Amino acid sequence: EPQTTLIDGNEVSGRIRDTLREAVVRLRTDGVTPRLATVRMGDDGTSKTYVSMKQRACSDLGIQSEHHEVDTDEPSATLLDRIEELNADPDVDGIVVQRPLPVHINERDAFRRIDPEKDVDGFHPENVGRLVTGDPRFKPCTPHGIQRLLSAYDIETDGRDAVVVGRSNVVGRPTANLLLQRAPGSNATVTVCHSRTTDLAQKTRGADIVVAATGVPELIDAEMLSAGAVVVDVGINRVDTAARDEPQFVGDVDFESASQKARAITPVPGGVGPMTIAMLLYNTVKAAGLRADVSVDL
Ligand code: NDP
Repeated sequence: EPQTTLIDGNEVSGRIRDTLREAVVRLRTDGVTPRLATVRMGDDGTSKTYVSMKQRACSDLGIQSEHHEVDTDEPSATLLDRIEELNADPDVDGIVVQRPLPVHINERDAFRRIDPEKDVDGFHPENVGRLVTGDPRFKPCTPHGIQRLLSAYDIETDGRDAVVVGRSNVVGRPTANLLLQRAPGSNATVTVCHSRTTDLAQKTRGADIVVAATGVPELIDAEMLSAGAVVVDVGINRVDTAARDEPQFVGDVDFESASQKARAITPVPGGVGPMTIAMLLYNTVKAAGLRADVSVDL
Protein backbone atom coordinates (compact mmCIF):
# COMPACT_ATOMS: atom_id res chain seq x y z
CA GLU A 1 0.00 0.00 0.00
CA PRO A 2 1.68 3.27 -1.11
CA GLN A 3 1.92 6.06 1.46
CA THR A 4 0.16 9.30 0.68
CA THR A 5 2.08 12.44 1.55
CA LEU A 6 0.10 15.01 3.47
CA ILE A 7 1.22 18.44 2.29
CA ASP A 8 1.47 20.54 5.42
CA GLY A 9 0.76 24.20 4.67
CA ASN A 10 1.17 25.23 8.28
CA GLU A 11 4.68 23.89 8.33
CA VAL A 12 5.74 25.35 4.97
CA SER A 13 4.17 28.73 5.63
CA GLY A 14 5.83 28.82 9.06
CA ARG A 15 9.23 28.43 7.43
CA ILE A 16 8.45 31.16 4.90
CA ARG A 17 7.41 33.46 7.74
CA ASP A 18 10.68 32.76 9.55
CA THR A 19 12.61 33.81 6.45
CA LEU A 20 10.48 36.93 6.11
CA ARG A 21 10.96 37.83 9.76
CA GLU A 22 14.71 37.87 9.21
CA ALA A 23 14.32 39.92 6.03
CA VAL A 24 12.23 42.47 7.93
CA VAL A 25 14.96 42.77 10.57
CA ARG A 26 17.52 43.45 7.84
CA LEU A 27 15.25 45.99 6.13
CA ARG A 28 14.69 47.81 9.40
CA THR A 29 18.44 48.03 9.87
CA ASP A 30 18.48 49.85 6.55
CA GLY A 31 15.78 52.18 7.85
CA VAL A 32 12.90 50.54 5.95
CA THR A 33 9.87 49.23 7.83
CA PRO A 34 7.37 47.50 5.56
CA ARG A 35 3.82 48.74 6.01
CA LEU A 36 0.58 47.16 4.78
CA ALA A 37 -2.71 49.04 4.50
CA THR A 38 -5.94 47.07 4.42
CA VAL A 39 -9.23 48.55 3.26
CA ARG A 40 -12.58 46.97 4.01
CA MET A 41 -16.12 47.86 3.04
CA GLY A 42 -19.41 46.08 3.66
CA ASP A 43 -21.05 43.81 6.17
CA ASP A 44 -19.48 40.54 5.11
CA GLY A 45 -18.18 38.69 8.15
CA THR A 46 -15.51 36.71 6.32
CA SER A 47 -13.82 39.89 5.07
CA LYS A 48 -13.53 41.05 8.69
CA THR A 49 -11.95 37.73 9.66
CA TYR A 50 -9.46 37.86 6.78
CA VAL A 51 -8.46 41.44 7.57
CA SER A 52 -7.80 40.66 11.21
CA MET A 53 -5.80 37.55 10.26
CA LYS A 54 -3.66 39.68 7.94
CA GLN A 55 -3.13 42.36 10.59
CA ARG A 56 -2.07 39.78 13.14
CA ALA A 57 0.26 38.07 10.69
CA CYS A 58 1.92 41.42 9.94
CA SER A 59 2.57 42.28 13.58
CA ASP A 60 4.00 38.81 14.14
CA LEU A 61 6.69 39.58 11.53
CA GLY A 62 7.42 43.16 12.53
CA ILE A 63 5.53 44.53 9.52
CA GLN A 64 3.50 47.65 10.32
CA SER A 65 -0.12 47.70 9.32
CA GLU A 66 -3.06 50.05 9.27
CA HIS A 67 -6.71 49.40 8.59
CA HIS A 68 -9.32 51.55 6.88
CA GLU A 69 -13.06 50.92 7.09
CA VAL A 70 -15.25 52.51 4.45
CA ASP A 71 -18.89 52.76 5.38
CA THR A 72 -21.11 50.28 3.49
CA ASP A 73 -23.46 52.97 2.22
CA GLU A 74 -20.71 55.15 0.76
CA PRO A 75 -20.53 55.50 -3.03
CA SER A 76 -17.70 53.90 -4.92
CA ALA A 77 -15.92 57.30 -5.12
CA THR A 78 -15.29 57.21 -1.37
CA LEU A 79 -13.48 53.92 -1.65
CA LEU A 80 -11.51 55.06 -4.70
CA ASP A 81 -10.49 58.29 -2.92
CA ARG A 82 -9.27 56.29 0.05
CA ILE A 83 -7.18 54.11 -2.26
CA GLU A 84 -5.68 57.25 -3.84
CA GLU A 85 -4.70 58.55 -0.41
CA LEU A 86 -2.91 55.30 0.33
CA ASN A 87 -1.22 55.39 -3.08
CA ALA A 88 0.12 58.85 -2.19
CA ASP A 89 1.21 57.92 1.33
CA PRO A 90 4.99 57.37 1.25
CA ASP A 91 4.84 55.19 4.38
CA VAL A 92 2.49 52.63 2.80
CA ASP A 93 4.18 49.83 0.83
CA GLY A 94 1.26 47.49 0.18
CA ILE A 95 -2.49 47.98 -0.24
CA VAL A 96 -5.11 45.25 0.10
CA VAL A 97 -8.73 45.95 -0.75
CA GLN A 98 -10.42 43.03 0.95
CA ARG A 99 -13.02 41.05 -0.97
CA PRO A 100 -15.93 40.67 -1.09
CA LEU A 101 -16.99 44.28 -1.61
CA PRO A 102 -20.61 45.46 -1.43
CA VAL A 103 -22.64 44.78 -4.59
CA HIS A 104 -22.79 48.45 -5.61
CA ILE A 105 -18.99 48.59 -5.84
CA ASN A 106 -17.24 47.57 -9.04
CA GLU A 107 -14.35 45.40 -7.90
CA ARG A 108 -12.43 45.98 -11.12
CA ASP A 109 -12.49 49.75 -10.65
CA ALA A 110 -11.13 49.36 -7.13
CA PHE A 111 -8.28 47.04 -8.13
CA ARG A 112 -7.41 49.24 -11.10
CA ARG A 113 -7.08 52.24 -8.80
CA ILE A 114 -4.34 50.71 -6.64
CA ASP A 115 -0.80 51.83 -7.50
CA PRO A 116 0.61 48.74 -9.28
CA GLU A 117 3.80 49.07 -7.22
CA LYS A 118 1.71 48.71 -4.04
CA ASP A 119 -0.61 46.04 -5.43
CA VAL A 120 0.51 43.19 -3.18
CA ASP A 121 -2.49 41.03 -4.14
CA GLY A 122 -1.41 41.24 -7.78
CA PHE A 123 -4.93 42.02 -9.03
CA HIS A 124 -4.12 45.23 -10.95
CA PRO A 125 -4.30 44.64 -14.73
CA GLU A 126 -0.66 45.74 -15.09
CA ASN A 127 0.45 43.04 -12.68
CA VAL A 128 -1.88 40.48 -14.24
CA GLY A 129 -0.42 41.37 -17.64
CA ARG A 130 3.11 41.04 -16.34
CA LEU A 131 2.33 37.57 -15.00
CA VAL A 132 0.69 36.48 -18.24
CA THR A 133 3.64 37.73 -20.29
CA GLY A 134 6.18 35.97 -18.10
CA ASP A 135 7.53 38.94 -16.16
CA PRO A 136 5.70 38.80 -12.82
CA ARG A 137 6.13 41.58 -10.25
CA PHE A 138 3.77 40.44 -7.49
CA LYS A 139 2.65 36.86 -7.92
CA PRO A 140 -0.94 36.50 -6.70
CA CYS A 141 -0.89 35.08 -3.19
CA THR A 142 -2.89 31.85 -3.42
CA PRO A 143 -1.30 30.69 -6.70
CA HIS A 144 2.16 31.61 -5.41
CA GLY A 145 1.39 29.68 -2.23
CA ILE A 146 0.43 26.63 -4.28
CA GLN A 147 3.67 26.86 -6.23
CA ARG A 148 5.68 27.09 -3.00
CA LEU A 149 3.87 24.08 -1.52
CA LEU A 150 4.70 21.97 -4.55
CA SER A 151 8.37 22.95 -4.51
CA ALA A 152 8.63 22.41 -0.73
CA TYR A 153 7.64 18.78 -1.33
CA ASP A 154 9.89 18.43 -4.39
CA ILE A 155 6.88 17.90 -6.62
CA GLU A 156 8.06 18.31 -10.20
CA THR A 157 5.93 20.55 -12.42
CA ASP A 158 8.28 20.74 -15.39
CA GLY A 159 6.71 18.85 -18.28
CA ARG A 160 3.87 17.54 -16.12
CA ASP A 161 0.19 17.75 -16.99
CA ALA A 162 -1.61 20.08 -14.62
CA VAL A 163 -5.36 20.50 -14.56
CA VAL A 164 -6.69 23.60 -12.82
CA VAL A 165 -10.40 23.37 -12.04
CA GLY A 166 -11.74 26.92 -11.78
CA ARG A 167 -11.03 30.06 -13.80
CA SER A 168 -11.57 32.90 -11.34
CA ASN A 169 -9.28 35.91 -11.53
CA VAL A 170 -8.23 35.29 -7.94
CA VAL A 171 -7.28 31.62 -8.02
CA GLY A 172 -7.89 29.49 -11.12
CA ARG A 173 -6.60 31.72 -13.90
CA PRO A 174 -3.49 33.05 -12.13
CA THR A 175 -2.63 29.53 -10.94
CA ALA A 176 -2.80 28.33 -14.53
CA ASN A 177 -0.66 31.28 -15.65
CA LEU A 178 1.90 30.63 -12.97
CA LEU A 179 2.21 26.91 -13.75
CA LEU A 180 2.60 27.84 -17.41
CA GLN A 181 5.56 30.19 -16.90
CA ARG A 182 8.76 29.30 -18.69
CA ALA A 183 10.57 29.02 -15.38
CA PRO A 184 11.66 26.54 -12.74
CA GLY A 185 8.73 25.50 -10.55
CA SER A 186 6.47 25.95 -13.58
CA ASN A 187 6.82 24.65 -17.15
CA ALA A 188 3.69 22.52 -16.80
CA THR A 189 1.27 21.70 -19.59
CA VAL A 190 -1.84 23.36 -18.24
CA THR A 191 -5.52 22.66 -18.82
CA VAL A 192 -8.07 25.01 -17.27
CA CYS A 193 -11.54 23.61 -16.53
CA HIS A 194 -14.70 25.41 -15.41
CA SER A 195 -18.43 24.96 -15.06
CA ARG A 196 -18.92 24.57 -18.83
CA THR A 197 -16.25 21.92 -19.23
CA THR A 198 -17.58 18.69 -20.69
CA ASP A 199 -16.44 15.51 -18.98
CA LEU A 200 -14.42 17.05 -16.20
CA ALA A 201 -13.48 13.62 -14.84
CA GLN A 202 -11.80 12.71 -18.10
CA LYS A 203 -9.67 15.86 -17.87
CA THR A 204 -8.70 15.42 -14.23
CA ARG A 205 -7.92 11.72 -14.72
CA GLY A 206 -5.31 12.71 -17.26
CA ALA A 207 -3.52 15.00 -14.82
CA ASP A 208 -0.34 14.56 -12.83
CA ILE A 209 -1.35 17.58 -10.74
CA VAL A 210 -4.94 18.62 -10.01
CA VAL A 211 -5.68 22.03 -8.50
CA ALA A 212 -9.29 22.33 -7.33
CA ALA A 213 -10.60 25.89 -6.95
CA THR A 214 -14.34 25.77 -7.55
CA GLY A 215 -16.13 26.49 -4.31
CA VAL A 216 -18.07 23.25 -4.82
CA PRO A 217 -17.71 21.08 -1.71
CA GLU A 218 -15.97 17.76 -2.38
CA LEU A 219 -16.41 17.98 -6.16
CA ILE A 220 -13.24 16.01 -6.91
CA ASP A 221 -13.20 12.43 -5.66
CA ALA A 222 -10.96 9.40 -6.14
CA GLU A 223 -12.86 8.33 -9.27
CA MET A 224 -11.73 11.52 -10.98
CA LEU A 225 -8.04 11.02 -10.25
CA SER A 226 -5.33 8.87 -11.69
CA ALA A 227 -3.38 6.79 -9.20
CA GLY A 228 -0.42 8.78 -7.94
CA ALA A 229 -1.77 12.21 -8.78
CA VAL A 230 -0.85 15.25 -6.71
CA VAL A 231 -3.96 17.02 -5.44
CA VAL A 232 -4.08 20.65 -4.32
CA ASP A 233 -7.36 21.64 -2.70
CA VAL A 234 -7.95 25.40 -2.62
CA GLY A 235 -11.59 25.22 -1.54
CA ILE A 236 -12.77 26.63 1.77
CA ASN A 237 -16.44 25.73 2.01
CA ARG A 238 -18.38 26.26 5.19
CA VAL A 239 -20.65 23.42 6.18
CA ASP A 240 -23.20 24.07 8.86
CA THR A 241 -23.57 21.15 11.15
CA ALA A 242 -26.39 21.44 13.63
CA ALA A 243 -24.51 19.34 16.13
CA ARG A 244 -21.55 21.70 16.43
CA ASP A 245 -21.18 25.31 17.44
CA GLU A 246 -17.87 25.80 15.63
CA PRO A 247 -18.17 26.17 11.83
CA GLN A 248 -16.67 23.29 9.89
CA PHE A 249 -14.88 23.63 6.56
CA VAL A 250 -14.50 21.22 3.69
CA GLY A 251 -12.49 21.59 0.52
CA ASP A 252 -13.35 21.11 -3.13
CA VAL A 253 -11.89 17.61 -2.87
CA ASP A 254 -13.41 14.58 -1.19
CA PHE A 255 -10.39 14.12 1.02
CA GLU A 256 -11.35 10.72 2.34
CA SER A 257 -11.47 8.99 -1.03
CA ALA A 258 -8.93 11.18 -2.86
CA SER A 259 -6.24 10.65 -0.24
CA GLN A 260 -6.46 6.89 -0.89
CA LYS A 261 -5.45 7.43 -4.51
CA ALA A 262 -3.23 10.50 -4.49
CA ARG A 263 0.54 10.51 -4.11
CA ALA A 264 0.33 13.78 -2.22
CA ILE A 265 -2.60 15.91 -1.12
CA THR A 266 -3.30 19.15 0.75
CA PRO A 267 -5.74 19.01 3.66
CA VAL A 268 -8.46 21.58 4.40
CA PRO A 269 -7.76 23.34 6.68
CA GLY A 270 -3.98 23.45 6.96
CA GLY A 271 -3.06 23.20 3.27
CA VAL A 272 -3.30 26.13 0.87
CA GLY A 273 -5.05 28.46 3.35
CA PRO A 274 -2.05 29.39 5.51
CA MET A 275 0.10 29.83 2.39
CA THR A 276 -2.07 32.62 1.03
CA ILE A 277 -1.35 34.93 3.95
CA ALA A 278 2.34 34.00 4.00
CA MET A 279 2.65 35.04 0.36
CA LEU A 280 0.84 38.32 1.05
CA LEU A 281 3.49 39.04 3.67
CA TYR A 282 6.13 38.05 1.13
CA ASN A 283 4.77 40.53 -1.41
CA THR A 284 4.59 43.27 1.23
CA VAL A 285 8.25 42.78 2.17
CA LYS A 286 9.16 42.66 -1.50
CA ALA A 287 7.19 45.86 -2.20
CA ALA A 288 8.98 47.66 0.63
CA GLY A 289 12.35 46.58 -0.72
CA LEU A 290 11.49 47.61 -4.28
CA ARG A 291 10.18 51.01 -3.24
CA ALA A 292 13.18 51.76 -1.05
CA ASP A 293 15.53 50.29 -3.66
CA VAL A 294 17.00 47.99 -1.03
CA SER A 295 17.64 44.43 -2.10
CA VAL A 296 15.83 41.86 0.00
CA ASP A 297 16.90 38.28 -0.27
CA LEU A 298 13.68 36.28 -0.08
P1 NDP B 1 -15.24 31.55 -7.84
O1 NDP B 1 -16.63 31.24 -7.45
O2 NDP B 1 -14.86 32.94 -8.21
O3 NDP B 1 -14.82 30.62 -9.07
C1 NDP B 1 -15.16 29.26 -9.09
C2 NDP B 1 -14.71 28.65 -10.40
O4 NDP B 1 -15.05 27.26 -10.37
C3 NDP B 1 -15.40 29.24 -11.62
O5 NDP B 1 -14.46 29.42 -12.65
C4 NDP B 1 -16.45 28.20 -11.99
O6 NDP B 1 -16.72 28.12 -13.36
C5 NDP B 1 -15.78 26.92 -11.53
N1 NDP B 1 -16.76 25.89 -11.21
C6 NDP B 1 -17.86 26.01 -10.43
N2 NDP B 1 -18.52 24.83 -10.37
C7 NDP B 1 -17.84 23.96 -11.15
C8 NDP B 1 -18.03 22.62 -11.51
N3 NDP B 1 -19.08 21.92 -11.07
N4 NDP B 1 -17.13 22.05 -12.31
C9 NDP B 1 -16.07 22.74 -12.77
N5 NDP B 1 -15.83 24.03 -12.47
C10 NDP B 1 -16.71 24.64 -11.67
O7 NDP B 1 -14.34 31.02 -6.64
P2 NDP B 1 -12.82 31.38 -6.23
O8 NDP B 1 -11.90 31.02 -7.34
O9 NDP B 1 -12.75 32.72 -5.64
O10 NDP B 1 -12.62 30.34 -5.02
C11 NDP B 1 -12.69 28.96 -5.22
C12 NDP B 1 -12.62 28.26 -3.87
O11 NDP B 1 -11.38 28.57 -3.26
C13 NDP B 1 -13.68 28.69 -2.86
O12 NDP B 1 -14.01 27.58 -2.06
C14 NDP B 1 -12.97 29.74 -2.03
O13 NDP B 1 -13.51 29.83 -0.72
C15 NDP B 1 -11.59 29.17 -1.99
N6 NDP B 1 -10.51 30.15 -1.80
C16 NDP B 1 -9.49 29.80 -0.96
C17 NDP B 1 -8.42 30.61 -0.78
C18 NDP B 1 -7.33 30.14 0.10
O14 NDP B 1 -6.56 30.93 0.56
N7 NDP B 1 -7.21 28.85 0.36
C19 NDP B 1 -8.32 31.92 -1.43
C20 NDP B 1 -9.42 32.19 -2.34
C21 NDP B 1 -10.46 31.33 -2.50
P3 NDP B 1 -17.35 29.36 -14.21
O15 NDP B 1 -16.21 30.30 -14.44
O16 NDP B 1 -17.83 28.72 -15.44
O17 NDP B 1 -18.43 29.94 -13.34
